[in-house]
Amino acid sequence: MTQHIHCIVNDCHYWKQGNMCAANEILVATDQFGATQPDKIDCNMAKQLTPQTAGTCMQTCCKSYVPKNSNKVFQDGVKKMS
Ligand code: SF4
Repeated sequence: MTQHIHCIVNDCHYWKQGNMCAANEILVATDQFGATQPDKIDCNMAKQLTPQTAGTCMQTCCKSYVPKNSNKVFQDGVKKMS
């Protein structure tokens, strides 16, 4: 089964035409977690992470976001599907 995630963040490495996410997996986290944890902490560690409450939609983020052409694209182990 393939994922089906819509996303409108078009400067992300994983974004593709049609407003789709082409990452094979993503990690959604709280803003606070995203702001304080390095890029390498992502889907590869998801099962070990402690769940947190966010409170509102505004306090969640996609931890798997990485800018296009970034040299950090391969740090988190997430793969871009075709
Ligand atoms: S990794 Fe996150 S920000 Fe990037 S395209 Fe997918 S859902 Fe959007």
